[in-house]
Amino acid sequence: MIDYFKSVWAWFHTILIGMKITFTHLFSKKVTIQYPNERYPIPHNAKNRLQLYPDLCNGCMQCARVCPVQCIDVETIRVVPTDPDKPVMGDGTQRKLWVSVYDIDFAKCCFCGLCTTVCPTEAIKHTTDFEYSSYTREGLIYHFSAMSSEQVEQKKKLFEEWSAKEKAAKAGKVAEPSSVEKGEN
Ligand code: SF4
Ligand code: SF4
Repeated sequence: MIDYFKSVWAWFHTILIGMKITFTHLFSKKVTIQYPNERYPIPHNAKNRLQLYPDLCNGCMQCARVCPVQCIDVETIRVVPTDPDKPVMGDGTQRKLWVSVYDIDFAKCCFCGLCTTVCPTEAIKHTTDFEYSSYTREGLIYHFSAMSSEQVEQKKKLFEEWSAKEKAAKAGKVAEPSSVEKGEN
């Protein structure tokens, strides 16, 4: 009989200990918030999702080369002298390359910040945005190039035409007989 009451007391005592912790937290200061209705302030210098500013990007690819996980994909097209558009960058300097592709796979990015460190024009920066989850892996690949597919095709065509003319001009110079061959001394 005594053992029975001892075990009842042990059971009751255990519940009291558990409830003591519960009641303590009921009246103590809350440390949780009702996200997403409430949010903690994000520090202004937080290194979250990256943002590219295409008008400042010169296509040098330093960011892609330094990225330790190779999650930046950059493709460029050379600006040719016959280009009717004014290839001027956001900072007023002459653009030498069109940036036809600038993709970042945020499923791979480890937010090391190396790309922002090496960028010579500060075209890529961290933002405070951390809410960009996706149901698909493709949804985490951000396409930052400001060029439409039509523009890319146009610039590629311009480059092909220009380089074909350059090659033809060089071939013409090579084929042109030298002064010795012409018998001019
Ligand atoms: S933050 Fe680091 S991992 Fe992410 S894209 Fe830049 S270099 Fe790559
Ligand atoms: S983001 Fe910066 S480092 Fe990367 S290609 Fe553009 S200019 Fe170069």
